[in-house]
Amino acid sequence: MAGTSVLNQQTLLLVQICITLISTMLLVTAAAHSHSQEEQRLWALGNVVACVGVAQGNLPDVPMLIHTVLSYSFIAMGLGLILRGLRRFAHQELETRWIVLIVLISLVLPGYFTYVEPSLSARMCASAFLFGTLNWLCVAALLRCGRWSAVGTAVTGFAAVGISLMVRGVYLLLHPAPAPGVSVPLLDMSLLVVSMSQIVIVFGLLLMVSQRYADKLRHLSAIDPLTGALNRSALENQGRRIAQRTLQAGRSVSLVMIDADHFKAINDTYGHPFGDEVLRHLAHLLQQDMRPLDLMARYGGEEFVLVLDGLTRDDALKVGERLRQRVEQASLTAGAATVRYTISVGVACSDQHGYDLGGLIAVADSAMYSAKHAGRNRVRAG
Ligand code: GH3
Ligand code: MG
Ligand code: MG
Repeated sequence: MAGTSVLNQQTLLLVQICITLISTMLLVTAAAHSHSQEEQRLWALGNVVACVGVAQGNLPDVPMLIHTVLSYSFIAMGLGLILRGLRRFAHQELETRWIVLIVLISLVLPGYFTYVEPSLSARMCASAFLFGTLNWLCVAALLRCGRWSAVGTAVTGFAAVGISLMVRGVYLLLHPAPAPGVSVPLLDMSLLVVSMSQIVIVFGLLLMVSQRYADKLRHLSAIDPLTGALNRSALENQGRRIAQRTLQAGRSVSLVMIDADHFKAINDTYGHPFGDEVLRHLAHLLQQDMRPLDLMARYGGEEFVLVLDGLTRDDALKVGERLRQRVEQASLTAGAATVRYTISVGVACSDQHGYDLGGLIAVADSAMYSAKHAGRNRVRAG
């Protein structure tokens, strides 16, 4: 398989060094951002360390210790740090002792094949399998991070490096290492794939970070920070989707409007911070019966809306009554005082009022007001 190749080894080396430098600069720039996460800083540091390793391995006229042994261990340490960052991204840990072990292996293997039993083939083969395995560990860590759409690019990059290093390892297991200056297309190609994949990996890592930010923003824009319930705009978007889904499936959908009774008096008597506590308490009581397809939203100050998938008016009235009793029986402590409060509940169902979300809200709201007028602490249907 040895011979001349379109892939010039000197050019390959230059490409590898340039790509390592550029990808390191990209990750360092991203990590220097004031809100960068710890994992981003680990990826940047890992790349800097690996970059030093690659440079050591390519320096002319340096002692074998630096050229082979130390260069391998720097690359392995860099990969270990990147792996730690990936596990951190997946909310897991990679303890320092594992990174120390990785570095030790990457010192011992090339050291053994350089000083004890010198063999270029064995050294190249061992390092290919070692670095290949580390890349597969990165793939495994990424697959625990979440959606394929977020991690797919980085997985592809690490897997491409993993495959080419394993192919390289197998080739070197079966053939002697080529003499200096002799080109083996398969080995040259594997180096080219490793270099190109670095671009894919860096792009993938930055994509993962920006997707996570986007997810966080989407979540924040949909959630009421005080109670953790959905906010009104999320209710309008997601509630409409539930109405559409139930209409298409031929199921009923019910809407329950809940308003705390005399809430202003609670604020006036115990103060607004305690009023906030009551709102959190109420949200907690309301969400206990929620099923995965339902939703709960804070509609206004002390008003909550439940959208209940598949429930008829009678079912929703039962849910409303259960919630009313639960709140009536619960209590909250404010200093020496025990505070009890009640809710008024209005119910509207698609069977009587159609699937328009705005229409259902209006009917449930007016039913809730008729519960207020009837004396509060009761449930009414529209
Ligand atoms: P009703 O039984 O008729 O519903 O009487 P109410 O006192 O509950 O109704 P009203 O609409 O008069 O008062 C609602 C109060 O809710 C007024 C407002 O100060 C308070 N409120 C609205 N948002 C918040 C909040 O986020 N925290 C606190 N602590 N109070 C809030
Ligand atoms: Mg009220
Ligand atoms: Mg109100």
